[in-house]
Amino acid sequence: MVPQPPASSMLAIDIHTLLLVSTLILGSMGLLFLVSWWDDRTARERLDWGLGFLILVPGVVLLSLRDRIGDVWSIAIANAIILASYGLLHTGARRFCGRTPGWGVALCGAGLWLFLCRWPTFMERFDLRVIAASVLCAVYCAMVARTLQRDAGGERLPSRGRAIAAFATVGTILSLRGVLMMIAPVELRGLASIESSWVTWLGLGVLVVGLICAHFLLAMSSERSNMHHRRAAERDDLTGALSRRAFVTRARERLERAPDAGTLMFFDIDHFKAINDTHGHALGDEVLIAFARLVEEGLGPEDLFARWGGEEFVLFLADRDFVAGRRVAEEIRRAFARLAVGEDERPLGVTVSVGLAAPALTGPDLDHLIACADAGVYAAKRAGRDRVEAVGGPTLAASSA
Ligand code: GH3
Ligand code: MG
Ligand code: MG
Repeated sequence: MVPQPPASSMLAIDIHTLLLVSTLILGSMGLLFLVSWWDDRTARERLDWGLGFLILVPGVVLLSLRDRIGDVWSIAIANAIILASYGLLHTGARRFCGRTPGWGVALCGAGLWLFLCRWPTFMERFDLRVIAASVLCAVYCAMVARTLQRDAGGERLPSRGRAIAAFATVGTILSLRGVLMMIAPVELRGLASIESSWVTWLGLGVLVVGLICAHFLLAMSSERSNMHHRRAAERDDLTGALSRRAFVTRARERLERAPDAGTLMFFDIDHFKAINDTHGHALGDEVLIAFARLVEEGLGPEDLFARWGGEEFVLFLADRDFVAGRRVAEEIRRAFARLAVGEDERPLGVTVSVGLAAPALTGPDLDHLIACADAGVYAAKRAGRDRVEAVGGPTLAASSA
């Protein structure tokens, strides 16, 4: 019969294997961050986080050589490096949240540690060192979680809350380790002596949740990049208005939800070709930008404004009926005629023709609505330009009565 090991030793961890595996995992994690930073250099926080995980490698290697090298390297310098890595995680979090990196804060934990190491009793007492390291690392975790939470600025990234929770968990495990060490101090007589102790198990816990933190940090940063790409794809480069495709998708959603609500207007800037020909294409661009800015000033969160193409724009006012929509169209038309553009900021006298259509009058089919508004533009052009017209709905005079 094969002798069974005693129950307690079945749970023993070989500390050297654990430390070796930790360095390999942390190093790979650091490399992953660096590769993803290389792919998108605008995400500078990934560099901070990558370096943070990478410098843990020499820190843990020096810790694991505890029985072979001097205390200065295996205690003072090893832990200072580990604390600097927590500092880098915090720096990355600040950068991610648009704050200045704060290198003083990043290195102050390591500095404090080195200062404590000048005290001989501290260097002799394992329990004091574990308490100090646990407290300092837990403070960094709390600061990362706080930074991510406080500076969210309304940005909705699914992994942000998860990263905050993961850092709070690491901070809790570290605090627990510090408290347990105060209550039941453990003595260290060579690394093997703490192999089956709770100190090592909690260290393993920190490693596992630390990897979860890394995953969520990377996910959070990727979510932001994806969001920026998605937004850029939905916007017109010159004016920042929605692209035609994004407008169509969103307007259809709105009309499905509320088939009778809102007013759609189509804008076509008058004699725009002549503006280009007289003042140059660059000033023509400025006119387009100024028009978009003028319209966007008055938009509500549910309204949709897009550049349909060239000098044509489309606006869907989600909660204005035909009469209210017409009033807005008139205001835009008048304000645009007064608009000052160019270096000398003088009004160019450029005007816009507007076509109006409301789903309550023409039905909720978007193509039909746009066709009606477009017909309104043609009617405005025929009637002399610089006016608001509607075709297929009530006459403007009747609707304003
Ligand atoms: P109408 O009053 O009948 O609408 O006349 P229009 O000159 O505005 O219309 P037309 O369709 O003849 O000319 C539109 C011009 O818009 C032609 C094109 O060069 C110009 N255009 C289109 N896109 C841009 C752009 O992005 N920037 C500039 N500066 N001009 C553009
Ligand atoms: Mg046109
Ligand atoms: Mg035009």
